Amino acid sequence: MTEKTPKSAGRVSVRPTLKPRELITDTPDLVGAWTAQIITLFPQAFPGVLGESLTGRALQDGIWRLDTFDLRNYGIGKHRNVDDTPAGGGAGMVLRADVLEQAIMDARGQSKGVAPLVYLSPRGQRFDQAMARSWARADGVTMLCGRFEGVDERVLHHFNIQEVSLGDFVLTGGEIAAQAMIDATVRLLPGVLGNAESAIEESFSTGLLEHPQYTKPAEWRGHQIPDVLLSGNHAKIAAWRRAQSEALTKARRPDLWVKFQQGD
Ligand code: SAH
Repeated sequence: MTEKTPKSAGRVSVRPTLKPRELITDTPDLVGAWTAQIITLFPQAFPGVLGESLTGRALQDGIWRLDTFDLRNYGIGKHRNVDDTPAGGGAGMVLRADVLEQAIMDARGQSKGVAPLVYLSPRGQRFDQAMARSWARADGVTMLCGRFEGVDERVLHHFNIQEVSLGDFVLTGGEIAAQAMIDATVRLLPGVLGNAESAIEESFSTGLLEHPQYTKPAEWRGHQIPDVLLSGNHAKIAAWRRAQSEALTKARRPDLWVKFQQGD
């Protein structure tokens, strides 16, 4: 028999702070802030690295918010079981559809506006800058982090969940992938990056890899910064950077180079 789980049983709002939650008075819960909802067995893994630097500051400022849904709270019976052995036999455990359903319903019931519903999965479409851009334009994202052998396939079809992969390798869980994708998305939200231009010029935004960067000292262990960068001639600098970007992309990512030429 499935136990009834009270509404919102597993949801915790996360901010990068060491202060007890009740002492937080100066971090606004802005209505309509971009929201990442994470369904996970390891809510304590969040915000993780997202609590640092620019993404952490933006989280604290209420530019985006993070809600975790602890899958354990939706588990069945005294032991709050969330998984069982694979039908047909084989190694490992599979997260149960009925348990996931409760967590997904809770998360979706609380999400406002348009937010993609995704399952982090090595079988999914590869995450890329275009996906980050489209998620940044939505009201947030709901992410399901798998563990063990993954999730019961039926839940993916029932809720029409999009599978998204961080790359062609296998992680032990979806949490690291979720944090990587949220980082890439949140930094595109208005007000997160200090210098608005840095998101426009960097790798992938133009379809090219970024040119090399240098800073002081002008000479280091006998290596000079390219003269043109110290020339003060902005047109020449822009042309040099563009040429470097093109050469790098051609050499390292022929796939991107072909796409770039088609679109140019
Ligand atoms: N048996 C599965 C792998 C399970 S790995 C298979 O062969 O496809 C356990 C969990 O880690 C997955 O449910 C998924 O949520 C996460 N995961 C593993 N690799 C991932 C990747 N490349 N991208 C995103 N999530 C991944």
